Amino acid sequence: MYPFNYLRPKSILEAQQQVRLDSESKFIAGGMTLLPAMKHRLANPSHLIDIGQLQELNAIASKDGRLVIGATTKHREVSNHPLVSSSILGLAQLANLIGDPQVRARGTLGGSLANNDPSADYPAAALALNANIVTDERIIPAKDFFLGLYTTCLNDGEMIQEVQFQIPLQSTYVKLKQAASGYALVGVFVAQFGPDDFSIAVTGVGDGVFRWTDAEFALRKKKALPPLQHDQLIEDIHASGKYRAHMTKVLLEKALTQFTQ
Ligand SMILES: Cc1cc2nc3c(=O)[nH]c(=O)nc-3n(C[C@H](O)[C@H](O)[C@H](O)COP(=O)(O)OP(=O)(O)OC[C@H]3O[C@@H](n4cnc5c(N)ncnc54)[C@H](O)[C@@H]3O)c2cc1C
Repeated sequence: MYPFNYLRPKSILEAQQQVRLDSESKFIAGGMTLLPAMKHRLANPSHLIDIGQLQELNAIASKDGRLVIGATTKHREVSNHPLVSSSILGLAQLANLIGDPQVRARGTLGGSLANNDPSADYPAAALALNANIVTDERIIPAKDFFLGLYTTCLNDGEMIQEVQFQIPLQSTYVKLKQAASGYALVGVFVAQFGPDDFSIAVTGVGDGVFRWTDAEFALRKKKALPPLQHDQLIEDIHASGKYRAHMTKVLLEKALTQFTQ
């Protein structure tokens, strides 16, 4: 690990000032992704600004018909909160399927979205639930936020503060786990907003999370589900692209059996 300075701000304002001390400064929240990257010398921040303990960023509430979750809310808090399971069951299910108990106890919603791992779970929920990602600079619709492999539209030093999820009629998340890490080999988030209005987001399969619009169209028209067509399928030691595409359809079928008609 390269040397770095560690700062622990007492407020959002102080964190914003500290992150601007140096262009190589970075926020750290749960540290579940950033610390391993630093240990492998894949990341070399000059200052770590620890926002993980800022209470202002940790909250779960409903506001203006949306479920609002603060950026530093831990995966475990999302999975256990009654408001999450009663309003967006799929989101509680998803949080409970992330990694292992240790990761769920430290990892945060904001850190997961900012990192945008192509096999991470939360990006699928954000996209399917038409989330707004609220930063200290602007409000970003999820459809504009994810720009592909580990890339988002966040500027340097821009802080995610909360995520506002649209509340569907019903939702579910189904995941085929990569056995060693728990990351999604395939993850499918399905949200239903009206009788024939489904939103389907897929993670683990392409170079970034994406909406499976052909399947949404088929459900709207009450047609058979099509095979998944995608240009950038992940091929790695864990699974071929063909297998991932096949399993995406299998998981969607499984997800739909969990919906009440
Ligand atoms: C063993 C293991 C298994 C895992 N399994 C899964 C899994 O199954 N599914 C899954 O989705 N994830 C998995 N993860 C990742 C985990 O969910 C992390 O919690 C998450 O990716 C990052 O969250 P964090 O709070 O730890 O972020 P950190 O590691 O603290 O930060 C990650 C990045 O986000 C930035 N950042 C953090 N917070 C903010 C913010 N509020 N605003 C702007 N930028 C911010 C940081 O600067 C950094 O670049 C796993 C991790 C491990 C170690």
